[in-house]
Amino acid sequence: MTETITLGMPTKAASAAEYNVVGDTGFEAPENRAKGAGLSGVAEADVTREQRIEQMRAGELGSVHSWELVTAVDGPGTRMTVFMAGCPLRCLYCHNPDTLKMKDGEPVLATELLRKIKRYRSVFKASNGGITLSGGEVLMQPRFAAKLLRGAKEMGISTCIDTSGFLGASCTDQMLDDIDLVLLDVKSGDEETYKKVTGRALQPTIDFGDRLAAAGKEIWIRFVVVPGLTDSVENVENVANIVARWSTVSRVEVLPFHQMGRDKWANLGMKYELNEVDPPSKETVERVREQFRSKGLEVY
Ligand code: SF4
Repeated sequence: MTETITLGMPTKAASAAEYNVVGDTGFEAPENRAKGAGLSGVAEADVTREQRIEQMRAGELGSVHSWELVTAVDGPGTRMTVFMAGCPLRCLYCHNPDTLKMKDGEPVLATELLRKIKRYRSVFKASNGGITLSGGEVLMQPRFAAKLLRGAKEMGISTCIDTSGFLGASCTDQMLDDIDLVLLDVKSGDEETYKKVTGRALQPTIDFGDRLAAAGKEIWIRFVVVPGLTDSVENVENVANIVARWSTVSRVEVLPFHQMGRDKWANLGMKYELNEVDPPSKETVERVREQFRSKGLEVY
């Protein structure tokens, strides 16, 4: 998922009015990336429980936390980022803990969401943008995601997924064909640290990255610098070495940890372990960036 790790970067929420999007009265641009745009304008599916389960199995229905229209984050151009509900990881620094459980999302039909996406086709075209499926973890709902990606490609819209790669095995080859860009979050460079940060194993992410590179799929890497957790020279070196072997990586985004998501943990009654952690110093962030640069990578 996408943590709100984008806050360390130039973020500009695009408005529908700005692009003169016709017929879309449901959109409200979020003031702040951390808030999300809810699901305004996307009709909630009206079905029985049994129908819902069946539709979810078929990928016709998904559990969605929110969506928003953004520029200069989550891929090139102006993008509609869809935050899916549900994630198998439990990152200590997660900025969107409200997206972790699939049951907490809103049921949304793929057809409905695609209708919504279609309205922004001209915006995407004019800005070289497109859709980004994020979360939570997009690959928790691979069939639903596949339908959205296919539908977007049929409309000539550029596609991107933002993923930890942990569930990369759930991404079918057909689905991969429908993805133009993968934002791959590499949260740490060795199994022990990765487990400490996320509660899960690193290897599936490496496997997924290997597969993406072999398939010639463009990758943007995201790495969050958390003092005392992910920022050691050794850990960064390990991440950089993993990333450097993927020939299709065109960009590495080094994102400083921040505390913008802290209140969400408290509001959800969840234990937040990074209360005492300060954002990294500029020097640390620069040192991390330099470590990636030294492998010949394009770093932001
Ligand atoms: S737990 Fe990790 S992977 Fe999941 S949404 Fe939060 S930051 Fe993203």
